[in-house]
Amino acid sequence: MTGGGIRGPAGMRIVSLFIAALLLAAGSLGLGAVSAQTGQRATALDARLAGDANRTRIVIDLNRKIEVRSYTIANPNRVVIELPEVSFDLPVGAGKQARGLVSAFRYGQFAQGKGRIVIDLREPARIDKTFVLAAIDDQPARLVIDLVRTDAASFLKGALVPEPAKTAALRPQVKPQGSDTRPLIVIDPGHGGPDSGAQAKTGDEEKEVVLDVGKRLRDQLLKTNRYRVVMTRDDDYYVPLDERVAIARTNNAALFISIHADSLSKGAGEASGATIYTLSERASDSDAQKLADKENDSDKFAGYLARQPDDIANILFDLAQRNTKNHSALFARTLVGSIKGAARLHKSPLRSAGFVVLKSPDVPSVLLELGYLSSPDDLKQMTSETWREKVSATVVVAIEKFFADRAPAIAGR
Ligand SMILES: [Zn+2]
Repeated sequence: MTGGGIRGPAGMRIVSLFIAALLLAAGSLGLGAVSAQTGQRATALDARLAGDANRTRIVIDLNRKIEVRSYTIANPNRVVIELPEVSFDLPVGAGKQARGLVSAFRYGQFAQGKGRIVIDLREPARIDKTFVLAAIDDQPARLVIDLVRTDAASFLKGALVPEPAKTAALRPQVKPQGSDTRPLIVIDPGHGGPDSGAQAKTGDEEKEVVLDVGKRLRDQLLKTNRYRVVMTRDDDYYVPLDERVAIARTNNAALFISIHADSLSKGAGEASGATIYTLSERASDSDAQKLADKENDSDKFAGYLARQPDDIANILFDLAQRNTKNHSALFARTLVGSIKGAARLHKSPLRSAGFVVLKSPDVPSVLLELGYLSSPDDLKQMTSETWREKVSATVVVAIEKFFADRAPAIAGR
């Protein structure tokens, strides 16, 4: 069986209901609701920013009118526009340019049937208006968001504040497979939806690379007939970090593999090759720490009301158990051994840091960075189907070896 639909929209739906309840409770948020028009799938065609640091307008051209909702989230300060399912057919680089109150914006599928635009603010801003204009003459339909500068205190008053996660009862679960005691592997392609992860100069995005490798890995694993597989996501939508962990734990996974691809910013030196990370309280090196910080910000990028980072840090290491850590380390070493020869490894390929997705106390977990999208050589590999197939095969080899060595202890978990 595959992970298709396992994650299920249920969790997200309830999170949305939760957000909706917050919205109802916050009448002063300036919500914009616009009547829906069903029919052809909505498509965003173009986007532009206008105005200055006192008043900034974002305009998204659409093929038809849609219903939208908007609200602000603090820390970091963002504006979130909730949309129905929308295809984003925006020009390359859309949202990357800062202007006025806006430093950047991202967009994508947030959950099945839901789109989202997340606007990063340079200064505290209030949503003055959100509206959608119907097409007229040669003008397409347009979504317009008007932002007005405000002070920090007023911003906080109007913004939604992250709440402690309350998803314990909502975790997606695979139906018990009767007597099927084959080890269950959770494959976690990083990012998704509005959070595209790292990006290459060519426009290639981490979220796409890791999803494709994740699916190939799933298919190859299923072919062995020795494993059950669940994917945290099998399409271009966002799954909060806590939920990824919950999917592994609730399904009693025998192994959790998060797949990513890093990128170094300009001036940060050069690096290439694959790296395997495990969880540790103290990062193995400062680059590992920086990477973990970046990956842990995923929820923020996606505009998800994430738990406060402090809460995550507090529970992170209390929970991690030595036994699980040992198994994680063993699998990481096995994976390095198996990737070697088939793909290039980073010069120090085994590293560790406080990655939120690796915090399951009872599921051996590793995070595989396939390589660096900032390295032309790595990029060439990562965009090659042959390489993706080959690197997936090396992960299967490592999994086979891991379970062969540990069969009596772990199989049947
Ligand atoms: Zn990543």
